[in-house]
Amino acid sequence: MSERNTPELAPDAEWGLYVGGEWTSPSDAGTLEVVDPATQEAFTEVPSVGTEVVDEAYETAAQAQTEWAKVPPQERADIVAQSISLIHDHHDELVDLIVREVGGTHLKAETELHIAEGIMNVAASFPFRDGGSHEKSIIPGKENIVERDPVGVVGVITPWNFPFNLSMRAVAPAIALGNSVVLKPAPDTPITGGLALAAIFEEAGLPPGVLNVVAGDDEEIGDHFSGHPVPEVMSFTGSTEIGKRVAKRAAEQLTEPALELGGNNVHIVTDDADVEYAADAAAFGSFVHSGQVCISINRHLVHEDVYDEYVEVMTERAESLPTGDPKEEETIVGPVINESQRDKIVSFIEETVDAGATLETGGDHDGLVVEPTILSDVTNEMAAACNEHFGPVAPVIPFSSDEEAIEIANDTRMGLSGSVHSDDLGRARRIADEIETGMIHINDQPINDEPHIPFGGVKESGMGRYNADAILRKFTRTKWTSVMHEQREYPF
Ligand code: NAP
Repeated sequence: MSERNTPELAPDAEWGLYVGGEWTSPSDAGTLEVVDPATQEAFTEVPSVGTEVVDEAYETAAQAQTEWAKVPPQERADIVAQSISLIHDHHDELVDLIVREVGGTHLKAETELHIAEGIMNVAASFPFRDGGSHEKSIIPGKENIVERDPVGVVGVITPWNFPFNLSMRAVAPAIALGNSVVLKPAPDTPITGGLALAAIFEEAGLPPGVLNVVAGDDEEIGDHFSGHPVPEVMSFTGSTEIGKRVAKRAAEQLTEPALELGGNNVHIVTDDADVEYAADAAAFGSFVHSGQVCISINRHLVHEDVYDEYVEVMTERAESLPTGDPKEEETIVGPVINESQRDKIVSFIEETVDAGATLETGGDHDGLVVEPTILSDVTNEMAAACNEHFGPVAPVIPFSSDEEAIEIANDTRMGLSGSVHSDDLGRARRIADEIETGMIHINDQPINDEPHIPFGGVKESGMGRYNADAILRKFTRTKWTSVMHEQREYPF
């Protein structure tokens, strides 16, 4: 396949793999069909790799990294800055790709590009912010220098829900800091999760081999990728179940895992909260991108005194949302990614109703579009509450005291994000302080991501943090060099 310097980011473009700066389609590669979730029809296909291509990508990345790390910081920063400018130039194509490949609405696509751009802006500053320190010594005449070096090769595995952003949040900081990357996007979204990033960085002038993108969808490839001896850090975003498996494989090679995993986020509404406002926030936090966000609201915990009013307002909000094909700009709730996700969501709803909950609205689906669904009389053990449902579903659980809300909120293995609504900010803060979570937002909803603020979870929601200095530290390692400026006296 020919080299392309000016990428066409069209959905039906001929996409290859991107290894060593070449767009290739190995003759023995399989194919991944890329499906538009709104029509459930394939609009293009990309090659799917075997283990040899993964080996080649890692080896190429390792070779390229040695030279890339020597490139002056201004040049590395310029390439990230140039990539941001190319995202602007290709804005409409990228929106179209996200709408087609991910089934995201226009609002979701714009938001995703905006968040990615913020992360890239911060990453562009990293080449000048990875300096070390001079430290005093306990040995007379010794000078201590602690430098920060790139780790080497970073392996990146990402999911399909915010593919462009979730890949970019690892790729941009990693390369800005002088690392090279092998990226394996989710098989549902190989273009927006990987190949589109490669096309943009290629156009920006990134040297061959610094970013490599391989797609594949079988377990053998995943295990080979995460258990490979070359990468020094394995950056994984996805489910807790697969995250544990990836971490185990990486640990066998003493590769450091960086894990952003599942959530089961609460939206707590106290009896003194503004119910209309709390429901506005909740409708966004539950239904944006059809609930397929790791920091979506998974459970609504509502004080019994305002419970009925809240359920009524939420039902109105859910019923007012335009659903359908996200190619229509007014669509708010589009399709979920694939049949298996849809079936999982629908079965969580059915199991919850069978267990005694009331279906206030929704519950049905048309193709992959699941109706915005409100479930009342829910308890924390019911399927839609104790599992990460990852759909446009709002299970509403009543509580009678702040202590009970805290207990229910913490009764999960997850701890990613959350929100608390109260007119009394002190009370909201006291509740927020008791919730076991990496992130929590008062008088807002849980979906927040700011590029300069550490992002991540506790408990089984992850290990480590993305964004800001946290990712700078993750993708660099210290090297201590000491210099004796006079002869040292040894004891023998
Ligand atoms: P997933 O099933 O865990 O898959 C995530 C990625 O891992 C995919 O690219 C997948 O590719 C790959 N994978 C699967 N098995 C693998 C293996 N054995 N070795 C290496 N890679 C493997 O998750 P998902 O369904 O795509 O995404 C939804 C989940 O991600 C939710 O739990 C959500 O909360 C979480 N998430 C977390 C964050 C966060 O920042 N905390 C952000 C977004 C999403 P294959 O499909 O080929 O298996």
